[in-house]
Amino acid sequence: MSRTVVAEINPAALQHNLNRVRELAPGCPVAAVIKADGYGHGLIRVAGALSEADAFAVACIEEALQLREAGFTLPVVLLEGFFDTAELEAIARYNLTAVIHHPWQLRALEQARLATPIRVWLKMDSGMHRLGFSPQEIPAARQRLAACSSVAGPVTEMTHLACADDRADQTTTQQLARFDAVATGDCSIASSAAILGWPQARRGWLRPGIMLYGASPFVTGGGESWQLQPVMTLRSTLIAVNRRQRGDPIGYGGSWRCPEEMPVGVVAIGYGDGYPRHAQPGTPVLVNGKTVPLIGRVSMDMITVDLRSQPQAGIGDAVVLWGEGLPVETVAEHAGTIAYELLCGVTRKRVRYSETQERDNGKIL
Ligand SMILES: *Cc1c(COP(=O)(O)O)cnc(C)c1O
Repeated sequence: MSRTVVAEINPAALQHNLNRVRELAPGCPVAAVIKADGYGHGLIRVAGALSEADAFAVACIEEALQLREAGFTLPVVLLEGFFDTAELEAIARYNLTAVIHHPWQLRALEQARLATPIRVWLKMDSGMHRLGFSPQEIPAARQRLAACSSVAGPVTEMTHLACADDRADQTTTQQLARFDAVATGDCSIASSAAILGWPQARRGWLRPGIMLYGASPFVTGGGESWQLQPVMTLRSTLIAVNRRQRGDPIGYGGSWRCPEEMPVGVVAIGYGDGYPRHAQPGTPVLVNGKTVPLIGRVSMDMITVDLRSQPQAGIGDAVVLWGEGLPVETVAEHAGTIAYELLCGVTRKRVRYSETQERDNGKIL
C-alpha cells in the first residue's frame, strides 16, 4: 500500500459557489480571485471550472502568464499591479489589467512607451492602510491616468475592506463612506466577506476568493450556513491501530496520556502535507465518516486519533481531514488559524490531487 494523501477537488462545487455569488449580487461582474495557486486548489484546474466568471484576479504576473499559457482569454487583474517596470510590456502583450496602488507605478506608466495601452484599476486606501492612494490623492491620480497614453479606457476605482469579516465592526461603514465621497465611475469593493455580509458593498466588480472554495470568511460560522459547498476534501487513511494502556504517553513530548486502555489510530497526514501543526487535541477528524478527536501532537507525516468510539476501525480505513462532512473552518479554529491558510498550505509536492467524478444522475460520488 503506497502512502495516499489526496486533495480531492470538486469542480461542480466551484461552479455552485460562483452561482451563489451571482444570486447575491445579480448583474455585477465577477473577478474570481484565484491567486496562490487557486487558494491551494490548483490554478489551472480552478480557472477551468470558473470559466463562467467575467475575469480572474491573481497576485502577480507569473500567475497571470500561467493562465494565458493555458489558453485562458478572460481579463486577468493583477491585484498588486506590477512590481517592476520591466513587467509593463508583458502586461500589454498579454492584455492584463494592472492595479495601480502607488505613485511610483503612476510615474512608471507615464514614462512607459507601450505598443498597446493597458487597462488599469486605481486603488484607494479607504482605511486598511496596506496598499493604495489616500482619498485626497485620488482625484489627481485619476486625472493623470486619464491623460496617460499608456492607459486604455476608463479606470475602475477599487478599495479593500479591512474588517468586513466581522459584521458588527463599524470600520466597514466608515471605509465605504470614505470611498463613496471620492470615487466616480466603475468601482470594485467587495471580497467574499462583503459579498456575503455587507449588501451596500455589492456593486461594481466583485472579487470573491474564499467563498468560491466553499469556506466562510467570517470569524464565526461555516460556509454551509451561506449555502456554499466545500471544494477541497483532504483525505488519507489509517496506517495503524494500536491498543494502548492507561497512562501511556502518545507522540512527541508525550504531552497527551491515555486516560484508560484504548485503541489509538495513526493517520498518514502531518504538517509535511499541510495539516496544521498547531491543531490541538480534540480537533475533529473523520474516520469512516464519523468524528473522532485528534490526540497528541501533529508530526510531520502522521497524526494520532482516539478510536474509543470506533473500536472496529482498522488499517486502510478512510479518513477525512477537512472538506465533505468536516468544514475546513472548524479545523482552522482548532489550530488557531483561518481556512485560507490551511487551503493554501497543502503541500503540492507531496499531496496527490484528484477531481471528484460526477455520476450519471449528477450526484457526486
Ligand atoms: C485576496 C483578495 C481578495 C479575495 O478575498 P477573499 O476574502 O478570499 O474573498 C479580494 N481582493 C483583494 C485585493 C485580495 O487581495
